[in-house]
Amino acid sequence: MSAPSVSFEFFPPKSLEASFRLWDTVQSLAPLDPRFVSVTYGAGGTTRELTRDAVATLHNSSGLNVAAHLTCVEATKEETLAIAQDFAKAGVREIVALRGDPPKGAANFEPHPGGFTDSCELISALADTGDFTIRVGAYPEKHPDAADQQANIDWLKRKLDAGASEAITQFFFEADTFFRFRDDCTKAGIEAPIIPGILPIENWSGTRRFAQACGATIPDWLSDAFDKAQRDDREELLAIAVATELCSTLIDGGVEHLHFYTLNRPDLTRDICHALGVTPKAELRHVA
Ligand code: FAD
Repeated sequence: MSAPSVSFEFFPPKSLEASFRLWDTVQSLAPLDPRFVSVTYGAGGTTRELTRDAVATLHNSSGLNVAAHLTCVEATKEETLAIAQDFAKAGVREIVALRGDPPKGAANFEPHPGGFTDSCELISALADTGDFTIRVGAYPEKHPDAADQQANIDWLKRKLDAGASEAITQFFFEADTFFRFRDDCTKAGIEAPIIPGILPIENWSGTRRFAQACGATIPDWLSDAFDKAQRDDREELLAIAVATELCSTLIDGGVEHLHFYTLNRPDLTRDICHALGVTPKAELRHVA
């Protein structure tokens, strides 16, 4: 098994303490030589300035290739494109382009008057600028808004055809879920790389809630294993074992790149990467 390339997702910090935690996380994971790191854009557009500042600071001070997330929520087209231009001016040339979730309390996504009506419109507008490499979200277990899996995949194809070059998936817990989705995407004529999104389980009850909200299946064996691990205080060990096994199976199945949802905590992601043979660059240099 050859070591995959990796990327890491962070969220923008909302306090001084959170800024230090993010910086510690970046310093801990940077030696693993990520192909890119990405910074989320808060639900409902709530972290617009924080995302812009975190993206610019990471770009200027970490030396990493930074991708900024951007959604269509709560902004006109002009406002959204102005944020994209701020990223470009700061030297950031990669965007993860998303429709975004409805604001809290709203059941369905409603475009802002004067805003992009869906992710394809945003992707086309960003592609027209010629300034960005664009990635998009993908949903192996179907997005809750998609009528069925075929509609889910047809829409992903439209997003890629609109100007995106790669897709990053929602998290999932069984490799077959990803392989089935990848096969279906290939059958639908999708040629762009689909990058599996991996969520190391930092907190079991939080993960359950998160999975329920976004429609990710929690297999019974995983539930049983975490219930037992909680009793024995071995959740961290189990989290590393489960994610390492998932990633190894994905790599054996031809996956070359893994995207980790770090939740701004480095330890599990770093240990999983080490177990997969993703070694700190400094160590590699030393060995060579
Ligand atoms: P889309 O793929 O555009 O739409 C979701 C589904 O709805 C599609 O599968 C399609 O079936 C259906 N659909 C939507 N519009 C149409 C249409 N016009 N016609 C037909 N079908 C349609 N959220 C944030 O707020 N901030 C973030 O930073 C963020 N980062 C994310 C990163 C990744 C990798 C992923 C996977 C998700 C992220 N999200 C983020 C969550 C995302 O915003 C939500 O899942 C949102 O509900 C969908 O956004 P999307 O761009 O993926 O949607």
